[in-house]
Order: sequence, then C-alpha cells, then structure tokens
Amino acid sequence: MTNPSDILQQVFGFTSFRPPQDQIIETLVAGGDAMVLMPTGGGKSLCYQIPALVRPGCGIVISPLIALMQDQVNAMRLLGVKAAFLNSTLAADEAQEIEQQLRNGVLDLLYIAPERLTQARTLQMLREAELALFAIDEAHCVSQWGHDFRADYLQLSLLHELFPQVPRIALTATADTRTRNEIISRLQLEQAQQFLAGFDRPNIRYRIALKHNGKQQLQKFLKSEHPNDAGIVYCLSRKKTEDIAQWLNQQGFKAYPYHAGLSAELRARHQSEFLREEGVIIVATIAFGMGIDKPNVRFVAHLDLPKTIESYYQETGRAGRDGEPATAWMVYGLQDVIKLRQMMEGSEGSEEHKRAEQQRLNAMLGLCEITSCRRQALLDYFDEHLEQPCGNCDTCLDPPQTWDGTEAARKALSVAFRTEQRFGVNHLIEVLRGADSDKIFQFGHQHLPVYGIGKDLDNNQWRSVFRQLVARGYMSVDLERYGALRLEEKCRPLLRNEETIALRKDIKPKAAKQQTKVHLAPDVDIALWEALRECRRGYAEELGVPPYVVFHDSTLQEMCLRLPQNMEEFGELSGVGERKLERYGPAFISVITEHLAA
Ligand code: ADP
Ligand code: ZN
Repeated sequence: MTNPSDILQQVFGFTSFRPPQDQIIETLVAGGDAMVLMPTGGGKSLCYQIPALVRPGCGIVISPLIALMQDQVNAMRLLGVKAAFLNSTLAADEAQEIEQQLRNGVLDLLYIAPERLTQARTLQMLREAELALFAIDEAHCVSQWGHDFRADYLQLSLLHELFPQVPRIALTATADTRTRNEIISRLQLEQAQQFLAGFDRPNIRYRIALKHNGKQQLQKFLKSEHPNDAGIVYCLSRKKTEDIAQWLNQQGFKAYPYHAGLSAELRARHQSEFLREEGVIIVATIAFGMGIDKPNVRFVAHLDLPKTIESYYQETGRAGRDGEPATAWMVYGLQDVIKLRQMMEGSEGSEEHKRAEQQRLNAMLGLCEITSCRRQALLDYFDEHLEQPCGNCDTCLDPPQTWDGTEAARKALSVAFRTEQRFGVNHLIEVLRGADSDKIFQFGHQHLPVYGIGKDLDNNQWRSVFRQLVARGYMSVDLERYGALRLEEKCRPLLRNEETIALRKDIKPKAAKQQTKVHLAPDVDIALWEALRECRRGYAEELGVPPYVVFHDSTLQEMCLRLPQNMEEFGELSGVGERKLERYGPAFISVITEHLAA
C-alpha cells in the first residue's frame, strides 16, 4: 500500500484530506522538506504519519511531550501501525528492544524525546537504520522568545548535517512570523517548502464579556451551557487555579488544578484523568495544553486575560478539535490589564522585548473591546481575511451597542491630567463624581474644576470609560505609581475637539438564551447513543486508552444516524479504518442490531 489516499481511507478511515495535508504529504514522499504552520486541531499528525508509512524505513518523530508519547503510540497501534517510543520512562532492556526493532526495520514510527535524540548512542542507532523522515513536532520550542523554549531543540540542526538525505518536516501551531523565521533558520530549513494552513476554526464560538464577578459568571456559563462537558479554565496564577478547582468541585463539577508548581506525578495524574474520563475540567495556568490531543474539549474559559492574541488563539484552539460546536469564553476587566503590565514590567529582558510585549498586549485588548466581528479581527491579526462577519461570535450574535463617549472621555482625561497623572482609577472616579472621601480632602481635590463634573455616570459606567481608554491606547497604567493613569500621545486630538469616540455599552450578562447541553443531532436516539458509549468504554478500559482513541464522538453519532448493520456499511463510517473495522465492528454492530430489535 503506497498511495496516500488509500492509507487515509484504509488505515485512518477518513474520506478526504484537509488541504494542505495532501500537498505536504506529497512533498515529503518526494523527499523534500516541509515547514508546516497549522492551527491546533488542524490535523498536523497525518502530515508525517502517512509519509512515514509510504516511504521505506521508519519515521522518527521528535516531540517534547513525553507524557503523551504512550497515548500517541497506543493510538497508532490501534490503527495497525507499528509504532514505539524512546524516552526516560523506559527501562534499559525495554529501550534496547526498541532500538533493535528499529535496526531490524520493523517499525513504521518511532517517537523520541529531543534530549534522547541528540545522545551519541541514539545517533549511532539512527545511522544503522533505514529512515523514512524526521518530524519535528512543536517546532516553536527552538524559539528562545517563547515560553516553551527547550535547549535540546537547538541541537536538532544536526539532523540536517548528519542525515542530509532524510526529509524533514517541522510543525507548529504558533503563528507569528518571528517564531516561524527562527524555526527556519535554527533548523536549517531554508530550502523547505512552507505550508500555512487557514487559521479559521468555524466551529468555535468566541465570546468575551466584561468581568463583574468572574467566579459567578463562570459558574453560570458552565451550568447553563456545559454542565457535563470536558473543558479547560485558564487563570494567571497558580494559587488561583487551585482555588477555582476546589470551588468548582464544591459546585458539583469534576475539576483538577494544573500548573508548573505541582509535582510531575500529580500533573500527570490530572492530565490523564482529563484525557481518560469524560466531563473533567482542568483549571490551569498556561503550563497546560501544549500537545493535548483531546478532541472533545467543549469549552475553553479564560478567567484572566492572555498576554497576546497568539496565546489566546492557541489556548482557545484546544476546544473543538473534533469539529463539533465548542465555546471560547472569556471575562476580563481593567484589573487584568494592570496585573499583566506589572508582570511584564517585572520580567527580565531588554527594553525592546518589553515594548514588543506591550504592543502584543495592546492588540489583545483591542480584540476585547472591538464592536465588530471577533473572528474577522482575529483572522486579520494572522493576515487572513474573512469577507463576511462570521455569525458565530458574540458581537455577530448580539451586536454591542455603542454610545458617543466623546464628552465622557474628555472628562476622564482631564481628571487624570488635573490630578497630575498620579492617581488610579478609583480615586479619579471619586473626584469626577464629587465624593467626599478623606483622600479627596487630603489632596485638596475638591477645589479642582473637574470635581463633581461626572455625576451623570455611575461608578461602573466610569470604570467602563477608563477601561476602554486604556485598552484603546489613550491612557496607560503607570506601574511605578501603583496603577496611576497617564495620558498618552494618542489623546491629543480628542482633547482638542478634533476627534470623537464611540464607546461600547457594557451590558450585564443576560441569562443564556438556549441550552446547548449535548451536542447531538436531533435524530440521535439517546438510548442507542448511551449503549454505544458503554461498548466503547469497555474497549477503552480493556486497552487502557481514552475512549476517543477507540472512536470519536462524531463516529458514534454517525452510527446512531446511519445505523450500519453489516461490516460493509460499518466500514463506510468516518473514522473507521480496516483495523478498527475488524476489531470493533462486530461488537458495535451487534449493539445496533439489538437496539433495533428491541
Ligand atoms: P493537530 O496536531 O494539528 O492539533 P491532529 O493531528 O491531532 O491535530 O488532528 C486533529 C483531529 O482531526 C484528529 O482527531 C484527527 O483524527 C482529525 N483529522 C485529521 N485529518 C483529518 C482528515 N483528513 N479527515 C478527518 N479527520 C481528520
Ligand atoms: Zn463574528
């Protein structure tokens, strides 16, 4: 079997490639190098798995995700692919046996941790084997700017020097141009063909709301829309992940914290619960997620603002890899901006680096405050253009109202200016609203001409004005002065009456309109669905793999709709290749026929 389309159908059970998978595969099969940028869930794995099967020899996959290698290998074996891994979790004799298998040419795919690959012993072994290709997964780990940097990845350029004949493919979901160029130069991929897949993830619904009480808003969102679904909640601090996880458990959800401060053992346990059990919520810092290949994550919730659009996109991209509807939900407020700026200010790195970070945060804020389609704005950021508003984001579904905020913005800017740009938002609002607090009298602010000129707006409305002015770059937060608000160059035309400004009306969240509990087609018979899930659970337990490795939810759903009653019909389902047909077909078919007879 040497034809990629045949392998796609017979081994993986899929009917067609998602472009540009086919072109990437063609390039590698022909012996060329490839650099692949594809969003999370786009289908990167097939791009090296299929060429490894087509070309003679074994495909070597370099991945930093040791914890996931076992699952990846199990999933490949279920498809009938001869796969193995080499990393520090193996005993010496087990490793030796796999090395022998490689030399004997019986493996199709071998996953290796980067630190292992660059050892002299491994390189010697590779010289003695026939190699189909090198796949460098999570290739952005070579970037010293990113938070996933791995020193071992820098050494991977030696693959090109030692094995010039073996084609290489580098894969990442990290989109910015700088990282991409860094990958190309550090891995010597100048000659590689570049493939940039479309970034749109149409099944993800983007929603960003103002934070009133993050916990309560989260609870309401989960209870009304995702009561039994698996999902990820991202927070900024380790402590907060633990608090939120504990609190979610008290609310009747099954939630685990995940952050770099937990022991490796505990992290592995929580991750594996998330992968293997249904309906588990992981509450995590950014330490969680790279390479998490769980297709049925139904929501990603952000309780704190991510630092960049890249992070936001990558984190939200972990939702809905199976193509079924999923939600990317976030709440944010001015406090988030202040906290993030503080973290950036305190971080090491050059002024240039900090400035770049600042600009990226500003782009993220822009996305939060935008009053047009979020997806269009997101894709624009990645230089991809969507003609029409998407119809599947909050601003499309429930267009925000705006108001002429020119007068209010001028008052807000004046009060900061008149108080010498030394005070934070709370005090500025008190001055505007003419409060009689001690602090006002202490500084004599009751004598200022701006004192009491803002009684027409309430506290929340003023917070909203200040937040939007900061988010849109009219003001900035001075961290040396504990969050004092300063004017920025950009506010001049506004103060000189040369510009007006439309502000977003913040609306208190309404009750969710419709419940989207189970994402099943209306024709699915729930009894059959549950019976099939039970059958799948049995196999998953027996094999020690997560249920979706046996069959995806979408394949089970197709069973419910098409009701296949013989092997031929069963083999036509998406996600059913030859091996799975042979192994599981009979059991699932009998569940279906019993159900129909009952
Ligand atoms: P990535 O590594 O890019 O995040 P994966 O390789 O894990 O994505 O693929 C995401 C999901 O899409 C997987 O569940 C995979 O089985 C599925 N998939 C990939 N390619 C195809 C295809 N051509 N047809 C149908 N499903 C596919
Ligand atoms: Zn939209």
